[in-house]
Amino acid sequence: MPARHASDPPECHALRAERVHVLLPLPLGAPYDYLDLTDSGLAPGDFVAVPLGRRVLAGVVWGLGPANPRAAVDEAKLKPVLERLPVPAMPEVTRRFIAWVAEYACAEPGAVLRMAMSVPGALEPPPPRIGYMLAGPPPDRMTPARHRVIAVLADGPPRTVADLARTAGVSGSVVSGLIAAGTLGETQLPADDGVPVPDWRHRGLTLMPEQREVADGLTAAIGAGGFHVTLLDGVTGAGKTEVYLEAVAEAVKAGRQALVMLPEIALTAPWLERFARRFGTEPVTWHSELRSSQRRRHWRAVAEGRARVVVGARSALFLPFAELGLIVVDEEHDPAFKQDDGVAYQARDMAVARASMGDIPALLVSATPSLESLVNVEWGRYQVAHLPHRIGKAVLPEIAAVDMRKQAPARGDWLSPVLLEAMSETLAQRRQTLLFLNRRGYSPLVLCRTCGHRQGCPNCAAWLVEHRFRSRLICHHCGFSLPLPEQCSECGDEHSLVSCGPGVERILEEVGRHFPEARALVVASDTVHGPAAAEALFQAIGRGEYDIVVGTQIMAKGHHFPNLTLVGVVDADLGLNGGDLPGRALIQTYVPEHPVMQALVSGDRERFMQAEKEARQAESLPPFGRLVAVIVSGPEQDETAAVAQQLARLAPEASDVAVYGPAPAPLALLRGRFRFRLLLKTARRVNASAIARDWVARVEAPNRVRVSIDVDPYSFM
Ligand code: ADP
Ligand code: ZN
Repeated sequence: MPARHASDPPECHALRAERVHVLLPLPLGAPYDYLDLTDSGLAPGDFVAVPLGRRVLAGVVWGLGPANPRAAVDEAKLKPVLERLPVPAMPEVTRRFIAWVAEYACAEPGAVLRMAMSVPGALEPPPPRIGYMLAGPPPDRMTPARHRVIAVLADGPPRTVADLARTAGVSGSVVSGLIAAGTLGETQLPADDGVPVPDWRHRGLTLMPEQREVADGLTAAIGAGGFHVTLLDGVTGAGKTEVYLEAVAEAVKAGRQALVMLPEIALTAPWLERFARRFGTEPVTWHSELRSSQRRRHWRAVAEGRARVVVGARSALFLPFAELGLIVVDEEHDPAFKQDDGVAYQARDMAVARASMGDIPALLVSATPSLESLVNVEWGRYQVAHLPHRIGKAVLPEIAAVDMRKQAPARGDWLSPVLLEAMSETLAQRRQTLLFLNRRGYSPLVLCRTCGHRQGCPNCAAWLVEHRFRSRLICHHCGFSLPLPEQCSECGDEHSLVSCGPGVERILEEVGRHFPEARALVVASDTVHGPAAAEALFQAIGRGEYDIVVGTQIMAKGHHFPNLTLVGVVDADLGLNGGDLPGRALIQTYVPEHPVMQALVSGDRERFMQAEKEARQAESLPPFGRLVAVIVSGPEQDETAAVAQQLARLAPEASDVAVYGPAPAPLALLRGRFRFRLLLKTARRVNASAIARDWVARVEAPNRVRVSIDVDPYSFM
């Protein structure tokens, strides 16, 4: 069939039809063409229902005319758009952002669109709500319960069955009985789609002079308008949150929407309460624990511009804001902003891109900014504002390294005598200790003393981790688990299995041996189920219900525990993020002379960052160069390896581009798939995404071998 050109005369249709192309929220390479038979004519951004095969899908009109004018499908074969959906059109800037993220992350535009319209129900009008009011004579048989229902309606507006039952303190069947008796009649209630409206005039705390100065600078810059990025850098407890809420107030005052992004775990009740203290009401939230009805309501409120402030996890960036005027990224250094599955993206970086596209300011906030952001300040691309002092009494942490070669713990123990002594002092003062170890479970490895067999996961190249609380061996990568065995699965010897190395559960056991009277607990992602449970637990810790907390990374998420005065880092050699430690910190290490350890102990962030920066600069690592990881995975090792080899042969060649690999990934087998990694490293000025995409597109891989691209990778597993 010869390709038709858009300017060719249209064929005979009963109605003169226009062609539009529609992007669907599916991992497709391009939008599909449809006919527009609507009376008013579709415009780019309109949400529409279209047929695809036998299905009906919601999509977005991506443009008028054919998607590809040089190879447009014959008009006679096109299907019409079924209807325009009753929601505001997706703003042009959101569409541009989706296309840009797809380019940058080497993802299909439809896969990115899916993140922006993850709530199909939001595209339909909110479901009607049926209310009941008094409509007929009292029932023949009157009971006290029936009487209460009638009394509620006699003094008030119509209500839903559930609302009536709750208000009158009766069961739903009492209400149904009155409906059946004809006493109550049906009426339509307004849709329940209201969201709170923050009041920027509501006064919160009075800012300290130092906070005031920074806040004034920020609001002036926001008032001036346009794209700019400011890094708000200040110690924990300096009052950064109050300061950025002023920036939010400024955006709201100017009639724009504001987005505050937080790592999901930091999106807690205390944060919402502080927001409410400043704005008189809670913000609209966006995170994984929303019920689908809330998700639908919030999405719609954002699209219709009724949600003035949204606080959310990384995915909130893809909401279709009608008039976004400010983006704040709190805890900007947090690795939780990087998504590795599906579309791999770094939400902090994408937030800056979104701000640039919308020509609006972005504010990055941290007590320990990322090297990327600090370098951007140095290069003059970002402004910086400092809040160097804690509010209230200044408690500077006293940090010391414990040289484990000299301060060896007792045999089979992991806590050094110095740390134990500091813990008993802290207990005596009725204060709290945090023991930090970023390893879940009891022990990372179980070994048979008789035959040396180590229990691995059948699906992954990883050892099973012993979890004593649950009496299981668990794979931390795929979730595979076994009951704790009594005997070695290899040689059958009984009582020969030994646990190697500590996890948090084992440290808790040790704490119990040394301080049997102390109230101690483990806090790890697998002992705490979801942000709400984490919040309740943090509250209990804050109230002093525990003396000693053995915690993983989850404990380092920006919570203030005023009574927590000692932190013991059980194994610093496992890799410690330049975190913010309250009170006194003892860091156990076998390499106290390492420059990073030195910098950490001296509390010298400048030195720590300088060492890190020089190392990255020497290797042209980000932000001085660019990295793109390519991961090849498949169920058969040889076939997968062959695709990886093919990629290596086709590697792009240029003076400022290098390709490393393939190498078996550190997790060479994951969920039953073999994995190989290649790494593309380029100069900073090079468009690494485009090179990676072209490169991967040239490879011919069988269907079951997957080649995925991770731009700016964080994880090297
Ligand atoms: P950061 O975000 O820098 O860690 P926060 O904004 O959480 O600091 O402030 C630390 C503590 O100080 C919080 O309990 C907060 O309520 C309190 N605080 C902040 N600003 C003020 C202020 N101007 N007046 C009184 N208390 C304040
Ligand atoms: Zn596994």
